[in-house]
Amino acid sequence: MSAFVDEVTISVRAGTGGDGTVGFQRSKDMPRGRPNGGDGGDGGSVVLVAETSVASLSSYLRRRDYRADAGGNGGPNNMHGAEGADVTLPVPVGTIVRDRAGSEVLADLARPEASFVLARGGRGGRGNAALKSRVDRVPNYREQGEPGEEIEVVLELHLVADVGLLGPPNVGKSTLLGAISRAQPKIGDYPFTTLDPNLGVVDRRDDRYVVADLPGLIEGASEGKGLGLRFLRHAERCAVLALMTDLSDVDAVAQLEGVLNEVVTYDADLGRRARVVIGNKIDLPSAKIDAAATWADEHGARFIAISAEDGSNLDELREALAEEVARSKAELGEPQTFAVFRPVVEDRVLVSREDAGFRVRSERVERLVTQTPLTNPQAVRRLQRRLRAMGVEKALVREGATEGDEVRIGEVAFEFIPERLDA
Ligand code: GDP
Ligand code: MG
Repeated sequence: MSAFVDEVTISVRAGTGGDGTVGFQRSKDMPRGRPNGGDGGDGGSVVLVAETSVASLSSYLRRRDYRADAGGNGGPNNMHGAEGADVTLPVPVGTIVRDRAGSEVLADLARPEASFVLARGGRGGRGNAALKSRVDRVPNYREQGEPGEEIEVVLELHLVADVGLLGPPNVGKSTLLGAISRAQPKIGDYPFTTLDPNLGVVDRRDDRYVVADLPGLIEGASEGKGLGLRFLRHAERCAVLALMTDLSDVDAVAQLEGVLNEVVTYDADLGRRARVVIGNKIDLPSAKIDAAATWADEHGARFIAISAEDGSNLDELREALAEEVARSKAELGEPQTFAVFRPVVEDRVLVSREDAGFRVRSERVERLVTQTPLTNPQAVRRLQRRLRAMGVEKALVREGATEGDEVRIGEVAFEFIPERLDA
């Protein structure tokens, strides 16, 4: 569906996980003591949530950086570090999330309450109590907390208009939109120019729909004259078109005729979506209803006479529009909706040649290296065991690595000392 787009870029960073702790409890049977260092808490995540109460992305124009809290470090006596608090960012329903770097769509928050974790908090490192194993009964090391994810994303708001208001200038389209909808985005908050369609959300007890003021429809629009064609393109995607006229104008009927003519010339089928005729300004003494009402009848459209200014018959209009939207959507079929998704990265261990040595790529392996305190020989020995178990050594040998070669993982360079594979 076509939509009106509003766009912002934000950068977010999740909290780092807390570090695990090394601690020992005195123990008669264990000369070095019993390991009791606690785990670090997880870092907070940054999460987007689609909320119906949010009308636009404009608050993200003011502030663009968001970070969640770090997790607390573990303590002695198996004390677990505090979890970092999440940061929840409310966005309008209809927000699409793109990775700024790759520009791929990460999520489409098309439904109320849909949520998406933009940046996951780092896991807390384990303390030495949790790192006990058959090989290391009394580990004197702990894991460091994992860094939080960081990402820069583009948020795009795609609002699909259900009703398009069409009519010549000054019939009262903007006034009506303001009168029947709430939370109308202010022009100043929006990267729309005043010539762009203006949107309003009409909330009723059981349903809501979006009305767009499609301004500037001028004669010859269907031939691409002036700005009109762009608005007709928007009109194409609206379930219902409402033709609006000024009943106090002697040319009220001619105006309706002119607008419908442009629409039908652009696309004959589109004329059938012109289901409602709105006669405005009945508060003026010069307003004449009959001719416009007859014209609507002849064209199979519903006629409603209103005053956008004093509010006459606006409830009736809201209801009529809701009915016509429901009817039209049933005929046209529901627009497609999207699921929230995130590309799943298969974590294979990739080895490539780099400079004089080799580089190992794998999210899990790189994370393991960042979590290891590399100055602690016991922790490094554990790292070596883990790398072997994860198939890193085999992958290196397969690529031709031999003893003494330099191997880089993330930011760290190692010297390759393989175990005997033939043993
Ligand atoms: P648009 O160009 O179609 O968006 O029209 P506007 O909403 O800007 O209205 C044009 C003028 O008509 C403004 O001066 C409004 O105050 C006035 N107007 C709009 N609706 C009514 C109405 O129901 N009654 C009267 N008397 N004036 C209206
Ligand atoms: Mg206007």
